[in-house]
Amino acid sequence: MVVQKFGGTSVADPQAIRRLIDIVQRARTSAGRGPAVVVSAMNKVTDGLLAIAADASEGRTEDALARLQGIRERHHAAARDLAPAEAAALIAGIDGELDGLAAVAQALGVLREASPRTLDVVAATGELLSSRVVAAALRQAGVPAVWVDARKAIVTDDQHTRAVPLAAETETALRTHVLREIEAGHVPVLGGFVGATVDGHTTTLGRGGSDYSGALVGAGIGASEIQIWTDVDGMLTADPRIVQNPRVVPRLSFAEAAELAYFGAKVLHPSTILPAVERDIPVRILNSRNAEAPGTLITATGAADGGPMTALACKREVTVVDITSSRMLMAHGFLRRVFEVFDRYRTAVDVVTTSEVSVSVTIDERRHLDAIVAALSEFGSVEVEHDLSLLCAVGDRLPREPEVAARAVRVLEEFPLKMISQAASRRNITVVLPQADLAKAMHRLHEEFFA
Ligand code: ASP
Ligand code: MG
Repeated sequence: MVVQKFGGTSVADPQAIRRLIDIVQRARTSAGRGPAVVVSAMNKVTDGLLAIAADASEGRTEDALARLQGIRERHHAAARDLAPAEAAALIAGIDGELDGLAAVAQALGVLREASPRTLDVVAATGELLSSRVVAAALRQAGVPAVWVDARKAIVTDDQHTRAVPLAAETETALRTHVLREIEAGHVPVLGGFVGATVDGHTTTLGRGGSDYSGALVGAGIGASEIQIWTDVDGMLTADPRIVQNPRVVPRLSFAEAAELAYFGAKVLHPSTILPAVERDIPVRILNSRNAEAPGTLITATGAADGGPMTALACKREVTVVDITSSRMLMAHGFLRRVFEVFDRYRTAVDVVTTSEVSVSVTIDERRHLDAIVAALSEFGSVEVEHDLSLLCAVGDRLPREPEVAARAVRVLEEFPLKMISQAASRRNITVVLPQADLAKAMHRLHEEFFA
């Protein structure tokens, strides 16, 4: 049994939804049943809905209703194009949702404020609409799809706009509303991102939450694989803005994905698919515009026979703060006091290196830098350096094969490395270097490990 989650660009218009239908049909043919389908809102719709809430609650009701009309027309057009046989009923369903939304917008215009609970009702509309359209389009193509109301299938707490699913309740609900449909020979289709509290108030899981819904459904029905259909071929061996022809990483581990995601690599962060990670369900990133491409498979174990390095990632605009103090020599409590300063100013520290008399840390949030420097100056001399970058090479083989790290540092010998860090997990080696050298350094590493 497979779960297929489609992102906003993969349901953006009739053309995209036709590709989705092909993909679903193929999965159904090869597995003999299912799949369960989870969809995002059509792309940009969630942004539009939140703009409706903002406009309405700031008194611009006309603007809000104009936006709403745009969303209505987009869904009507898709309904007529993809599901002519049931267009009347489908359009009535769409209008039902949107008339409700229009009433909410009018009310917000009077109240002049939008509570998190109301924002969730508004934001959830996107997935409720797209899932209805996709279910009808599948039926029109001969797939026995049934629309499942995500508000019945995903049960959450009441932290509106970033609700947390309740594990046991959601599992029971998914068995009833999704697994049973698959067992009855159907293809359940539900909106991602959306849930409801035990008393039935609509909630959302936070922006980008559809991946999480896909993982919840996968865990809940005991799927053998969760497919995340998007508009890229998978995760890449290097930043495509720097390296012209990076390769697709065929396979990596959840742990490697976590390291890379921190650097903004185009990959799922394991925390966004936690239910899959916990159940050890493989997650595959696939391109709905290029469905034949193998994509990237993320599993607990990663690639057993991959290359020495899995991927590179980088982060720009990094600042290094360097604290030197002879008082640090043989003293205890020094690091605690240093880190307390960053804690006090809620500034995350990323990479840390220490010597006996100095500590260097990288930060990318500079808002409180002056205050931090002033506070740290009580312990020793403080130096700040800007315009640096982090360059990170990730690979599960790094801990077992020390020569891999040595090779990485060797190919970077011409660059002044401000910091080098290989943490206890040792599945990544991270260096800090001047931003001006970043592109060349990434090219060097890519040639060494991926050419
Ligand atoms: N539509 C929601 C968003 O744009 C959820 C998602 O697509 O994952 O944040
Ligand atoms: Mg997304």
